[in-house]
Amino acid sequence: MAIWNLGSINIDHVYRLHRLPRPGETLAARGHVCGLGGKGANQSIAAARAGAVTHHLGAMGAGDGWVIDRLTERGVDTAGILRLADQPTGHAVILLDSAAENAIVIHPGANRAIAPAMLEKPLSAITAQDSLLIQNETSAQVEAARIARTAGARVIYSAAPFDIDAVGAVLPHATILAMNAGEAEALFAAIPGPLPVRGLLITRGADGAEYRDLITGAVYRQPAFAVRPVDTTGAGDTFAGYFAASLDRGDTVPDALRLAAGAAALKVTRPGAGEAIPGLDEVMAFIA
Ligand code: ADP
Repeated sequence: MAIWNLGSINIDHVYRLHRLPRPGETLAARGHVCGLGGKGANQSIAAARAGAVTHHLGAMGAGDGWVIDRLTERGVDTAGILRLADQPTGHAVILLDSAAENAIVIHPGANRAIAPAMLEKPLSAITAQDSLLIQNETSAQVEAARIARTAGARVIYSAAPFDIDAVGAVLPHATILAMNAGEAEALFAAIPGPLPVRGLLITRGADGAEYRDLITGAVYRQPAFAVRPVDTTGAGDTFAGYFAASLDRGDTVPDALRLAAGAAALKVTRPGAGEAIPGLDEVMAFIA
């Protein structure tokens, strides 16, 4: 019915380079673009563009009003975003080479200054028909997940960037765990036993994605759509947001996987993060 997303908001500074610098090396960038990113903001935009009623919960500094405008223009409800006077808006320095490979440094700023008590009011309207999305780029995920599960909502947890302490704390409150191949490898190395979630979504870049229903044992596989990649930033977030929105409107898992893979494939053909996420009509036309 609705998607709530406790998620990071970052201003992405993207520098294009022939190749990534080595330690101690200085390289001149061939170009610079500033745009909206952060796993949370990207997932909210993806869910809203997929047609879900999407409420973003998160935090920013006091300025940067254009960020709110861009989220609103893309259909995201921003009323639950906290504005913290003593914190900068989170930002990321993204280095992108000519083969679309990236290296990223993030300064979390306001994203990590969210106290659990700040979420009680914004999340009080979540219902059993809703979903909560969380990732590892904010604070207070455990509190948010607890409130959501108490209300009976589905909690979709992207364990990214991988952080074993965060995973250990959040996992018992998650319904679906979403990871890329690298994160899955790190998680299975750290937690060898059975996972306390109902479903496991693993994305594997150009090798597609799979969803394992840990209750029934069913495994659903979705190949990636063949495209020429330009910028893979936000591919996983686009996938997660579309997948959540598709389940939210009652689609089956195979349909949700196919829609999400189509959206993510279109995203990688475009430079940028949040602003490059395609809308539902173009995704439907692309996968038809
Ligand atoms: P992340 O961005 O979190 O690292 P992945 O790289 O696994 O996540 O990508 C997420 C999804 O995006 C993949 O499952 C796939 O559907 C799509 N995708 C990523 N890279 C490509 C690609 N080169 N071609 C087509 N689809 C892609």
